[in-house]
Amino acid sequence: MEKVVVIGLGLIGGSMALSLKQNHSRKIIGIDLNSDHAQQAINLGIVDKIGELTTVSDAAIVIIAVPVDAIPDVAVAVLDLIGTETLVFDVGSVKERVCDRIKDHPKRGNFVAAHPIAGTEYSGPEAAFIGLFKKKRNMICEPEKTHPKLLEKACALFEELEMKTEMMCPLEHDKHIAYVSHLSHISSFMLGKTVLEIEPNEATIFAMAGSGFESTVRLAKSSPAMWAPIFMQNKTNVLKSLEEYIRNLETFKKHIENHEKKEVFRIMEETNRIKNILNGISK
Ligand code: NAP
Repeated sequence: MEKVVVIGLGLIGGSMALSLKQNHSRKIIGIDLNSDHAQQAINLGIVDKIGELTTVSDAAIVIIAVPVDAIPDVAVAVLDLIGTETLVFDVGSVKERVCDRIKDHPKRGNFVAAHPIAGTEYSGPEAAFIGLFKKKRNMICEPEKTHPKLLEKACALFEELEMKTEMMCPLEHDKHIAYVSHLSHISSFMLGKTVLEIEPNEATIFAMAGSGFESTVRLAKSSPAMWAPIFMQNKTNVLKSLEEYIRNLETFKKHIENHEKKEVFRIMEETNRIKNILNGISK
């Protein structure tokens, strides 16, 4: 049996466990600081057993799927304990901090810094499902620092999850992801906050939510425990993307104030090309 240890049994760790468990020659051991989540993971059949951190010492694969502020410490603790053949990877949404933290670790070659670009607005083991990663992208940072054999093993595993892997340096990863993912979450949270503040009547929000509001505010249902550490860890890039976003909002507001219909129209028409870009991605 191939022993797989999953640390953090929420949406991402739980979905990976469920998917990898389909291969019956694997035994999945789960670890989670939240004892309710550990129990749910057992009840839902996500893992075979709950274990302690020391269980990684004879594991074939260790997956670190905890919030990004906890990943660097957990990564070091795991690398300290594993054998020479163990593959360890994290799934964190910010990559520079963890790569920097483990750069001089004697077992750096056992580690793959990954980010599966897949998720929903839900969290915890109950949100986990098989197929979350299907046809999604996966980013691997600093592949040259992983032992080639273990990198190959990791790529095969992501392929098994039906993901398409791309390589990117951590700095570039964190810069781009701030715009396409982190900013979207802030924008959705702040839209939700604004509507909650100006519209005290929950029934009115509910009645009118069938419009674009529901889809635009979907990400505001996401877990603060997962997202607050991401915004803090990717602070420089997040602030830069926010400044540009606020500048665009101010400009758009001015055009409406000045009744510059042509400009309002032009900006929206130019932005419509996002449709073609996203259609390309979904193919
Ligand atoms: P989640 O559903 O909240 O699950 C994380 C689990 O880890 C929770 O049960 C949490 O317990 C537990 N935990 C926290 N610190 C721990 C520690 N030190 N040791 C063991 N368990 C710990 O989060 P998720 O959405 O799966 O995200 C996990 C990782 O995946 C994050 O690094 C995130 O950046 C990355 N990621 C997320 C998405 C997404 O869309 N959700 C997409 C790609 C990558 P508590 O609930 O008590 O904190």
